[in-house]
Amino acid sequence: MENENTAKIISGKEVSAKIRGDLSRRCDAFREKTGRVPGLAVIRVGEDPASQVYVRNKLRACEEVGFYSEAHVLPENSTMEELLAEIEKLNRDPAIDGLLVQLPIPRHLDEKAAIAAVADEKDVDAFHKLDAGHLTLGDGNILPCTPSGIMEMLRYYGIPVAGRECVVVGRSNIVGRPMAALLLAADGTVTIAHSRTPDLPEVTRRADILVSAVGKAGLITADMVKPGAVVIDVGMNRNADGKLCGDADFEGVSKVASYITPVPGGVGPMTVTMLLANTMAAAEKKM
Ligand code: NDP
Repeated sequence: MENENTAKIISGKEVSAKIRGDLSRRCDAFREKTGRVPGLAVIRVGEDPASQVYVRNKLRACEEVGFYSEAHVLPENSTMEELLAEIEKLNRDPAIDGLLVQLPIPRHLDEKAAIAAVADEKDVDAFHKLDAGHLTLGDGNILPCTPSGIMEMLRYYGIPVAGRECVVVGRSNIVGRPMAALLLAADGTVTIAHSRTPDLPEVTRRADILVSAVGKAGLITADMVKPGAVVIDVGMNRNADGKLCGDADFEGVSKVASYITPVPGGVGPMTVTMLLANTMAAAEKKM
C-alpha cells in the first residue's frame, strides 16, 4: 500500500546519468580538438577489499564516458619513496589529466605527504590544502567530489539551500568540512555536528537539510528528523545481514522526510561522477 508520508527519492543514479551524458559529449569534442581523450590514473596501495571495489568503479565509469584510465597497484609493504616515485611518474605523464591515491593507504605510509605530492593541476579529488583553503574562502574552482555531487543533486531536484537551516553530521576533511563550506557558500545557515556534540537529536531536528557523513548504520532515526526535511545520507555501512546501508534508518526516516537519498544509489554514484567531471575540467584546462 502506498504511504502518503513517504519521502521522494533523490536518485544519484538519475542525476549521474544526466551528467555522464554531458561528459561523454564533452569528451567527444575534446577528442576532436586534441586527438586524445581525458585520462585518469588511480594509485592503490595494498589489497583493501573496499578500495578494490572503489577503484574498479572509477575505472568502469571512465570507460562509460570514453575516458582513458589506468590503475597502478603497489604492494602493501611499499615504502613512501616507492609511492612518491609512482606519483611523480604519473605527474609527468602527459596522457594523465587526473591522478588520485585511493585512500586509505597502509598506516606506515604518510597519507598527507602522498596527497600533497599529486601535481596541483591533476588533483581531481581536490584534497590539497590549497583546495581546502580556496573552498573556505569561497573561490575554489575544483571541488571535492562527494560534497559537490550532493550540491548537484540538490540543484537537480530544485531544493533551495539559501536561508535554510543545514546540519552536517561529521567533520572529516573529505566530506563533512567541505560539505559545510559549500552549503555556506550557497547561503545556508550551517551547523556542523560531530562525535563531541552532546545532544545530536536536538541539533539534527533543526535541519531543513540534514547531511549525515558519519559511517554508523542506524545513527539517524525518524525522531531526529524535522518533518519535511531533506535527508542526504553519505554513510556507507554494512548492516547485520551484510547489506550496504547508510547512516539513516531509511524506512523510518522516509516517513518523516520530504526527500531522502537511498544507499546504495544516492550519494555514491555522484561521487564517481564528480571525479569524472573534475578530470574533464583538468583536461580542458590544458587545451
Ligand atoms: P570519518 O571517519 O573521517 O569521519 C566521521 C565523522 O563522523 C567524524 O567527524 C566523527 O566525529 C563523526 N562521528 C562519529 N561518530 C559520531 C556520532 N556518534 N555522532 C556524531 N558524529 C559522529 O569518515 P568520512 O567522512 O570519510 O566518511 C563518512 C561516511 O561516509 C563513511 O561511512 C564513508 O564510508 C562514507 N563515504 C561515502 C562516500 C560516498 O561516495 N557515498 C564518499 C566518502 C565517504 P569526530 O570528528 O569528532 O571524530
